[in-house]
Amino acid sequence: MSTTTKDLAWLCRQLKAPSLFAGVERIATRAREENWAHEEFLAACLDREVAARAAHGGEARVRAARFPAHKTLEDFDFDYQRSARREVIAHLGALDFIEERSNVVFLGPPGTGKTHLSIALGIRACGAGHRVAFATAAEWVSRLKAAHDGGRLHEELRRLGRIPLIIIDEVGYVPFEPEAANLFFQLLSARYERASVIMSSNKAFGRWGETFGDDTVAAAMIDRLVHHAEVVVLKGDSFRLRGRDLGKTPDGGT
Ligand code: ADP
Ligand code: MG
Repeated sequence: MSTTTKDLAWLCRQLKAPSLFAGVERIATRAREENWAHEEFLAACLDREVAARAAHGGEARVRAARFPAHKTLEDFDFDYQRSARREVIAHLGALDFIEERSNVVFLGPPGTGKTHLSIALGIRACGAGHRVAFATAAEWVSRLKAAHDGGRLHEELRRLGRIPLIIIDEVGYVPFEPEAANLFFQLLSARYERASVIMSSNKAFGRWGETFGDDTVAAAMIDRLVHHAEVVVLKGDSFRLRGRDLGKTPDGGT
């Protein structure tokens, strides 16, 4: 190893920049061949380290978000799910909604891609440097209940408020007890105009009263949620059951 290489190894260790060290020789070769300016060379070296860190941080954020599966916008079939307009989802994928602290709501029957699209947007957000937390509505409520019982609800809501995107899946599958509905309402109020939520539900807004046990509470919640939101209504048959004629009897009746 030349003295310069040794110096570089030591300096990159001090800077905790292993990718910079790994790339410097190859970048230097190219720079000599192509007669780069010194500044260009430096920029290429730093770019290499920055890109490595961004990718690495993205993976760490994906792990921390606790997604139940790995889904991407690229593997969503828009020809199958025609009620999700490609350009609307692509616009959401640009993540302006997180900067704007607004929300996304996916509504639709089981298997229409609500969880898939929520995860895909969440993974995009992780890659763009945002922290994300994913859980079902029931899990969020039990988390908040534990905090409430331990006298830490306020603290927990503040902590969650620093996460720019939380995803609340499966609202409406299980009806809430009044205490749970109240905790859920507090979660949404705490985030209103401060940080984004992606929420999905198998129930149309008109039926959220059933989930929250109270039409007024449900209305107040929907009001805050959709004041700044993209609401995507998914339709059609379950993707899980595609290709199977489960709804039809052998004679072709219903
Ligand atoms: P929901 O949350 O609406 O019940 P999911 O998003 O969990 O439905 O979708 C069910 C399964 O079908 C998942 O594995 C998902 O990746 C897949 N899926 C649903 N819709 C599509 C689609 N349009 N293109 C590709 N995969 C899809
Ligand atoms: Mg789902």
